[in-house]
Amino acid sequence: MLKDEDRIFRNIYGMYDRTIAGARKRGLWDNTGGLLANGRGWIIDQIKASGLRGRGGAGFPTGLKWSFMPKESDGRPSYLVVNADESEPATCKDREILRHDPHHLVEGCLIAGFAMGAVAAYIYIRGEYIREKESLQAAIDEAYDAGYLGKNACGSGYDFDVYLHHGAGAYICGEETALLESLEGKKGMPRMKPPFPAGAGLYGCPTTVNNVESISVVPTILRRGADWYSSFGRPNNTGVKLFAMTGHVNTPCVVEEAMSIPMRELIERHGGGVRGGWKNLKAVIPGGASCPILPAHLCEDALMDYDWMRENRSSFGTACMIVMDQSTDVIKAIWRLSKFFKHESCGQCTPCREGTGWMMRVMDRLVTGEAEVEEIDMLINVTKQIEGHTICALGDAAAWPIQGLVRHFREEIEDRIKAKRTGRMGAMAAE
Ligand code: SF4
Repeated sequence: MLKDEDRIFRNIYGMYDRTIAGARKRGLWDNTGGLLANGRGWIIDQIKASGLRGRGGAGFPTGLKWSFMPKESDGRPSYLVVNADESEPATCKDREILRHDPHHLVEGCLIAGFAMGAVAAYIYIRGEYIREKESLQAAIDEAYDAGYLGKNACGSGYDFDVYLHHGAGAYICGEETALLESLEGKKGMPRMKPPFPAGAGLYGCPTTVNNVESISVVPTILRRGADWYSSFGRPNNTGVKLFAMTGHVNTPCVVEEAMSIPMRELIERHGGGVRGGWKNLKAVIPGGASCPILPAHLCEDALMDYDWMRENRSSFGTACMIVMDQSTDVIKAIWRLSKFFKHESCGQCTPCREGTGWMMRVMDRLVTGEAEVEEIDMLINVTKQIEGHTICALGDAAAWPIQGLVRHFREEIEDRIKAKRTGRMGAMAAE
């Protein structure tokens, strides 16, 4: 188990003072100017050496991403944009930072912004996060009052501003280019890439978009060292991470743990175990709604990291798990996600706009069993035509849960169809 002294977030449960005085006691804002004095290159090298990968789901190496920003300005300003539009069903880790420990993020913005030569950070926060917005804005104001932000931030000679922007509550605005559109005051619709944000992002200027947790861990990594951070987890999956558990666990929670922790250990140690015991586990969606479901037998040895999940045809995502026990109608659960993605499609590209509705309507019938068995393969075929053929990843996000369902629970789907046809209780339902 991760030792308390190795936890980056000491106040995610809101037990202590979240103001700047409390944050200072927990080691934040300690000689930040001295860290900046080491230079941009040093900061980026440290983050690269730590192995930190984006905590918003994609898992792209953070230091490498920063290094794509121009070293010299061509006259345009550069920006850091923080994605606090946490909207994926089951994902609720960033909100704990925002409402209880916001100075991690504010200090992280300054350091990351400095490292990439940005003049300002824009934090785009989810529309529904009202209290989180208040808490974060208070932290930003405190940092300005203390001289940590604004002109000559932390006495570094560097000018840096942080702006908080409140979204209106659309899931698609969590996609980085849709977020930029929304920030510019336009409809939140993803942009075609290239150009990538590092070349032309916010207002056509070089921009890096990072997740809240990715930025919030930066000050501690620099203070404690890249070696300390990379000593946790497996190679290529290093560090500590906020994990969340929801669904059929006895004590749903958000907890900080080392990367690559076994899923079973995480659930039993921090989630109070599966309702009715481990044997009562049916499946887990490991990292937010878009990640393919894993059946219980795979969960037994699952490691919570990017590579294990990829090797087992799922995705680590945000590491916020949905745990389902044997009482779960898994077909209905995935149908509900299909409905969600259909609702949230921005409608810009045909495979996603038409395909998400099409998939949802087939899922409607799989739930009741009023479908033909052949339609299962047809459904998979449609998911393949959507996956990888859309402007943004929402198409993939809608396709993957269905692919995971059919891969692991095909028998249950067929059983329901046959039961509907014969009027008898299905063998699986009778178990
Ligand atoms: Fe919009 Fe869907 Fe296309 Fe993304 S994939 S741009 S959400 S229609």
